[in-house]
Amino acid sequence: MDYARILREIAEEVRPLVGQGRAAEYIPPLARVPRDRFGMVVRTVDGEVFAVGDAGERFSIQSIAKVFGLTLAMRLEGDAVWKRVGREPSGSAFNSLVQLEVEHGIPRNPFINAGALVVLDLILSHQPDGVDLVLDFVRHAGAESPVGYDAAVAAAERATGHRNRALAHFLKSFGNLGNDPDRVLDAYFLLCSISMSCAEIAAAFQYLATGGLSATGERVATERQVKRVNAVMLTCGVYDEAGDYAYRVGLPAKSGVGGGVVAVMPGRFVATVWSPCLSEKGNSLAGTMALELLTTKTALSIF
Ligand code: GLU
Repeated sequence: MDYARILREIAEEVRPLVGQGRAAEYIPPLARVPRDRFGMVVRTVDGEVFAVGDAGERFSIQSIAKVFGLTLAMRLEGDAVWKRVGREPSGSAFNSLVQLEVEHGIPRNPFINAGALVVLDLILSHQPDGVDLVLDFVRHAGAESPVGYDAAVAAAERATGHRNRALAHFLKSFGNLGNDPDRVLDAYFLLCSISMSCAEIAAAFQYLATGGLSATGERVATERQVKRVNAVMLTCGVYDEAGDYAYRVGLPAKSGVGGGVVAVMPGRFVATVWSPCLSEKGNSLAGTMALELLTTKTALSIF
């Protein structure tokens, strides 16, 4: 497969879409990222890396980090995770309060904000430095370079996170948060502000394409866990656009409001794409098209 040529073609073909749509303006530092950025990486399960555009530039990975949180929680708690959070698409906004009220404090899935708060609560109950544990996991899985938080993004998350505060207190009122809500929120704001490049994300997600082996060949998840994380990504990973993604891209994927999307082709590759402007539903506009072109041009998808 000539991934280098395919990526060059994709970069060319998505160019008209780059800069269209809107950045996530509710988190001010994200609104200041130049709109013309586009980067993409394909990393094969053999560790070969193909890149185009701004693939080495770090950006705010936002909700992509929720996948690391879920994997870690599954390692710590096994199937008990699913007593506290569901695994169905939400069909609502990722920060919806109404759904949580109607469903008595059990978030629909671990990738909406309420679900990620519960996942972090589980992690914090095992380990007081819960988010450091997530970063350790990322370093372990990706191994190539030290990864950290973007302090400006973390501060903005804290300053503007009123809805997330409401969700955390709601969860607490339903008895689905063991720790102090402020502690869980602190961890959540840090989690959202992890900064990585497309290349670093692709390396850190390698375990989801290899049945659990990290970029350095270490086992970081079981095959059973990998199957389940990929399934939740397919059904719940791209906000309220999972059906469209399955139709157009055909791969489990997770996006974030920073404009990153990571997609997994089990047994073959991880693809990561970044372009900051988003569709109405909150997924990178150029990024989604790039992934659709990738599965079309390679004729590879899980379907
Ligand atoms: N920090 C964002 C929020 O809580 C994360 C959103 C996302 O990427 O889905 O609103």
